[in-house]
Amino acid sequence: MRARFRIGFVVVLASISALAMTGCSNNTADNGRPQVVATTNVWGAIAAAVAGDDATVTSLITDPSADPHSFELGAAQAAELSDADLIVYNGGGYDPYVDQVLESSPDVARVNAFDVRTDKSDTNEHVWFDYGTVVSVVQGIANALADKDPAHASGYQERAKEFEGSLKSIQDDVQKIAIAHVHAPITETEPVPHYLVTAANLDDVTPPEFQKAIEDGNDPSPASTAAFRDLLESKRAKVLIYNIQAQDSSTQALRDIASKAGVQVVEITETLPKGMSYLDWQRDTVARLAAALS
Ligand SMILES: [Zn+2]
Repeated sequence: MRARFRIGFVVVLASISALAMTGCSNNTADNGRPQVVATTNVWGAIAAAVAGDDATVTSLITDPSADPHSFELGAAQAAELSDADLIVYNGGGYDPYVDQVLESSPDVARVNAFDVRTDKSDTNEHVWFDYGTVVSVVQGIANALADKDPAHASGYQERAKEFEGSLKSIQDDVQKIAIAHVHAPITETEPVPHYLVTAANLDDVTPPEFQKAIEDGNDPSPASTAAFRDLLESKRAKVLIYNIQAQDSSTQALRDIASKAGVQVVEITETLPKGMSYLDWQRDTVARLAAALS
């Protein structure tokens, strides 16, 4: 969780209240279909898989070069949220502007992924890499949409089941990594796929101090950066998981060291690459991780 996303956030609230007072409610405007608004396109893609043609889904964050941690909500987007029939969001401090909107629009249905996460003791907010949590979110979306739109309830439930079936096959792929590479040491520039790494039985040996600095939006200390470099140069880490959406000169330097040392680099993203479904994205990420470890 980074501190810098909080800037700009209070400014928008005045406009949210103004919109709430003018009462521009726009529910089920699109041919009577429920309107789902998701924060990132990850949750949007998951919602879209359940919605099919029976509900419309829009995502606030779709730009693959943007960092969702530093997203600032505009007035039009605040209105989109308060007018939604269902909001699907991450929670856990990742998209805190939603909680602010919900304070002025308490009746809007919502699914908060972090709140339904599988492991309540784990505070890593990137819960879309936890497939058990994703199943709970999918069920929450299907139930909420069935409730809003009973005529299409069976469609929502069927698509949710189908999605869960496909996700199960990806979980099987993760299980194969867990068996073949028990406690294989890996490093991550950011603990974005933390839940995937845990499910795959891999040991994240990244210096904790380095990860904490990155998470807090600070520059890692020279000592923790040196320790990270050493893990790569000595090849004690088998893989470097590299977030291409949050790179700077220090992460690029680590990537260069990994490449020179012959440590496999697995590129990951925090939001969904354009034109990919959530399932394709996860299947591809898991396949590349498996290939890098082999
Ligand atoms: Zn993140």
